[in-house]
Amino acid sequence: MKRIALFPGSFDPFTKGHEDIVLRGLRLFDEVVIAMGHNSRKSRYFDVNEMVQKIEYTFENVDSVSVKLYDELTAELAKKYSANYLLRGLRNTTDFEYENSISQVNRHLNDQLETVFLITSPEYASISSSIIREVHKYGGDVSDFIPYEL
Ligand code: ADP
Repeated sequence: MKRIALFPGSFDPFTKGHEDIVLRGLRLFDEVVIAMGHNSRKSRYFDVNEMVQKIEYTFENVDSVSVKLYDELTAELAKKYSANYLLRGLRNTTDFEYENSISQVNRHLNDQLETVFLITSPEYASISSSIIREVHKYGGDVSDFIPYEL
């Protein structure tokens, strides 16, 4: 049976830190499905469809990576894609506190689902989508933090 992992996130925007988690995840899993959560009632900074295209372009030569948009429970989405693993990245204790709670809830909702955490590579530990948005908003150059051109 194929080992399929879902990598859920807002990816507003997708960063080099996220890319690193996907590429390292491919050493553990046969397929990684990048699932971009999009709640139509919540506004985003970067356009969802444009971001999906950028992520697809980033992994255009990697067949085992796909990108999906979703607006439902992550635990339900995992069932749809026969994914028994959720892939998440951990940068620090703040991430841990949050991830700890949601992984418990996700396993409660879907007992087949195991969350697998990868500790961020040190060179990407300080990259966050929110800081990139802030830098971009004020006209700063964010190209060092993202794996595609805006
Ligand atoms: P969410 O809104 O679900 O937190 P994000 O897009 O912010 O979505 O992050 C998705 C996942 O990627 C989370 O597990 C987060 O901890 C992880 N992540 C974010 N930035 C980095 C980074 N620089 N290095 C490694 N993992 C990261």
